[in-house]
Amino acid sequence: MRLDELTTGQQGVIVKILGHGAFRKRMIEMGFVKGHIVKVLLHAPLRDPIKYEILDYEVSLRRTEAHLVEIIPLEDANINIDERKSRTVFDDKNAEERFNTHRKVINIALVGNPNCGKTSLFNIASGAREHVGNYSGVTVDAKEGVFDYGGYQFNIVDLPGTYSLASYSPEELYVRRYLRDETPDVIINVVASSNLERNLYLTTELIDMDRSVVIALNMYDELERSGNKLDYKLLGEMIGVPIVPTVSRTGEGLNKLFDTIIAVYEDRNNAVRHIHVNLGEDVEQGLNILKDAIKKDHYISPHFSPRYIAIKLLEHDSEVENFISESPDAEKIKLLRDRELNRIEQLHNEDISSIIAGEKYGFIAGALAETFVKSNRNTVNTTHIIDAFVTNKLFGFPIFILIMLLCFWTTFEIGSYPMGWIESIVDWLGEFVRQIMPDGALKDLISDGIIGGVGGVIVFLPNILILYFCISFMEDSGYMARAAFIMDKLMHRIGLHGKSFIPLVMGFGCNVPAVLASRSIESKSSRIITILINPFMSCSARLPIYVLLIGTFFDKHAALVFLALYLLGIVVAMVTARLLRKIYFKKDVTPFVMELPPYRIPTLRASLRHTWGKGEQYLKKMGGIILVASILVWALNYFPIHNDNETTPTTSANISSNHDATAIDIEHDSYLEMLGKAVNPVMEPIGMHWRATVSAIAGIPAKEIVVSTLGVLYTGNEEASDNALSTRLTTPDSITGKPDFTPASALAFMVFILLYCPCIATITAIVKETGKWQYGAFSAIYNTAIAWLLAFATYRIALLF
Ligand code: GDP
Ligand code: MG
Repeated sequence: MRLDELTTGQQGVIVKILGHGAFRKRMIEMGFVKGHIVKVLLHAPLRDPIKYEILDYEVSLRRTEAHLVEIIPLEDANINIDERKSRTVFDDKNAEERFNTHRKVINIALVGNPNCGKTSLFNIASGAREHVGNYSGVTVDAKEGVFDYGGYQFNIVDLPGTYSLASYSPEELYVRRYLRDETPDVIINVVASSNLERNLYLTTELIDMDRSVVIALNMYDELERSGNKLDYKLLGEMIGVPIVPTVSRTGEGLNKLFDTIIAVYEDRNNAVRHIHVNLGEDVEQGLNILKDAIKKDHYISPHFSPRYIAIKLLEHDSEVENFISESPDAEKIKLLRDRELNRIEQLHNEDISSIIAGEKYGFIAGALAETFVKSNRNTVNTTHIIDAFVTNKLFGFPIFILIMLLCFWTTFEIGSYPMGWIESIVDWLGEFVRQIMPDGALKDLISDGIIGGVGGVIVFLPNILILYFCISFMEDSGYMARAAFIMDKLMHRIGLHGKSFIPLVMGFGCNVPAVLASRSIESKSSRIITILINPFMSCSARLPIYVLLIGTFFDKHAALVFLALYLLGIVVAMVTARLLRKIYFKKDVTPFVMELPPYRIPTLRASLRHTWGKGEQYLKKMGGIILVASILVWALNYFPIHNDNETTPTTSANISSNHDATAIDIEHDSYLEMLGKAVNPVMEPIGMHWRATVSAIAGIPAKEIVVSTLGVLYTGNEEASDNALSTRLTTPDSITGKPDFTPASALAFMVFILLYCPCIATITAIVKETGKWQYGAFSAIYNTAIAWLLAFATYRIALLF
């Protein structure tokens, strides 16, 4: 009997909760646990919600929710409990026994592709003689059987075979309605081991539904005979569904299967875990929006998870549309769906069903790549051919390095043309301001502070756009998933998983979204380590510094120096991860599926859209924090020199010795110079001049400010014919007679900037995502210390050459 059938004042004992996993969890948290006694406080017909009392609390449930709670009315249960103190049947030993006979009924349903051996399994289990045939469409409706096993009574149902659970064919509709209305306790997903890819597709739909599932890996005899090997235990752990090999023709493995079903039913199986089959960034974004709207509404059936409903809505599943039509928000949800669907299909130039199917097959391919070993190769297609090279043990790694090198080369070489154009516009603008404005602080502010600072950063926009384009191309084409795949072994060696690789690569763009993306890593310690090492991934804000200094000093080997810097960041990240895993976090081994989607040529529209999104962010930063910082740096560098240059005598010894130097500017220290010189003793060993020191400090709010500060500090000389920042950097200092930057100090400076304290936004993200400020503090201190040490080593070694 179901809870919604009780009338006011009646009591019942809870037997089990049906429905999807998240719903069951929520109900259990509210106290709806087997053996607990629930009482109807208020139950007017047609009244929704219904009020109940459980564990002395009042709870109201929707009728649809109460319908998923199976109970025995207290009077039928023949249980006499002292009402004043008992809240569960377990307070009374005899009652518990009687209750358990009610509870020990498990309803199971067989779901699987046609011809995978469901009926054979059904017959052997229940002793029935249903027709078995080696062609599809034999079972047209549900056959029921009953048997006892392990002290439980099993009600088993054989359902028609289906390839998926959409509502295209009558079989599919039938199976889905059955799962919805009859809510079996455990679904047996029969999977034919002879055709895993196609069979597991249906499994991904069951995973989306978030129901209790056990996989019967049937025709296991054929798998063994073929010589193929499947690590089904690992596969089960990866997808969060226990897998038991069976041969339903002979009955082999069935006992193990039913033992597993009992364990799942009693929540005792630890392979059970709800995972999400990742459908790609764009679809996931749409799903999240829809899920939020669906979750708000309790009228929507709790039989299936909101995620499943959202996916089916995107697929225009007419029956699921009917499910939600009772909801007062139905129109709103449909409008949202149309909007998201439009967005996704436009981005991908493909219809949603193919996108989702592609991602799901990618998920399956990834799972099988790690668990399935084929004995003889026969099927060959483009994806397989490319993968044979790209994920090859020998070539995989060099190919990855080559592709990265190509990215950096494009970023630097191709980017240098538009960079030159923007540079000349900025120069022209500065020149223009200098000519038309009267001398004074305002003129200096605009030409040196704003144009020197913001202009100095904006010239790198093309490089950043190109880098983002490359990253987005690698992601959309499916290569990034392969890169993660070949990195998996390496990542395991540092105590992480290949899945951590994607947030790390995203870090090359910007560490902030990358830290957020680490959320998808299910193991907590892996997640925190991934977050902490992310700042060592050189983000695009650091790119301008490299472009500037490499262009100035290492123009001949630009791409190589680039690659070396990025690799250094990666190496430091790996060593750090290793240390953290060894010292601080204990080992954990949650296996994941790494998706291997088929290769696709990304649509230009999607790549451009992703790239432009980043460009917009960059420009916004220009107008905001970088503008403010430039003005601030300029002001700190401008004062107090320019407001009272008569009074203050200079305090700096090394400058007074150069008293005959030309400009008044150098007679006194600016605030910035004082700051720089105060900190500089610490930075001198790594080859940094005070201006470099100040730039590094100024870069803590945002790394772009390093370059804008250099732009403000090296104002250059108005008579010079070539006023580019790189020329200004190499101009000898008027006091020391030496340029501030040499190849060695430039290299050390880049290493320092690569590794030191993450920007404020990243630290904030780290604190937010880990939930502890200590991790943010660790990141700031540890990274700066490592940066100093490695910059020191770089400087000293570079000086030898
Ligand atoms: P259904 O369509 O899923 O109900 O599949 P059936 O139970 O009708 O079985 C389809 C075919 O597969 C029949 O010829 C069975 O004899 C055969 N079969 C079922 N289970 C096994 C198995 O475990 N191993 C082998 N080798 N054949 C099986
Ligand atoms: Mg059948």
